[in-house]
Amino acid sequence: MKKFLLMALTCLLLSIPCAAKAATNVKVPVLLYHVVSTNPDPSNLYQYNLTEFKKDMAYLNANGYTTLSIDQYYNILNKTIPMPNKPILLTFDDCTEDFYTNVYPVLRQYNMKATEFVITDFIDTSWHLTSNEIKTVFNNGIDIENHTTHHLDLTTLNYNQKFSAINDATAKIQAITKKTPVYCAYPYGTYDAATVSILKNLGYKAGFSVSNTLSTDSDNKYGLPRICILNGDSFDTFKSKVSIGH
Ligand SMILES: [Zn+2]
Repeated sequence: MKKFLLMALTCLLLSIPCAAKAATNVKVPVLLYHVVSTNPDPSNLYQYNLTEFKKDMAYLNANGYTTLSIDQYYNILNKTIPMPNKPILLTFDDCTEDFYTNVYPVLRQYNMKATEFVITDFIDTSWHLTSNEIKTVFNNGIDIENHTTHHLDLTTLNYNQKFSAINDATAKIQAITKKTPVYCAYPYGTYDAATVSILKNLGYKAGFSVSNTLSTDSDNKYGLPRICILNGDSFDTFKSKVSIGH
């Protein structure tokens, strides 16, 4: 009872639509973008056009979507915080430099939250984010989380290699942001039981895979689905992916 009153009061104070108390059916789209470029290679599915990206974000903004921090997303799935109107998690993988030059200004324009999953061995190398850029975006509301040290398929590595791929990346992110990452995106979306056990042992709350479905409160937290937004997707496809996952 106390919990309900507190939630109602919080909703009132924050003017959040009180969908939270009815959040029996939590469904949240988690979008996954890679490179966002002014001149994408038409044959590369993972290079998305900046013009299309701007249209996508304008659509989410105009249609009342609430972009989430990754902790908010996790807490919504666990039903420990109220669910805002049309929640959505935006994620970006591989820490390519376009995140800073192309994506981040658009996110700032709409005051949107997002998560960047970084490959730590690539930080401060050509075509990738620098440590300083990561610090800047992190200090402005972008979550920085783990995409391993080198982006090898975790299922092809032995236990010690898997452990280092995750643990060394944890340390590097911690050194840059001063915050310990607790969410991991599996390279290529692939993982196995040993990967999950390593994540749990290191205090990770969740792991993200790739799938064409919305995430729900009943999903396995170490196999959360993300929806890839791909080069060649029409605007209708984008809207459909946001609303039903494919
Ligand atoms: Zn990746």
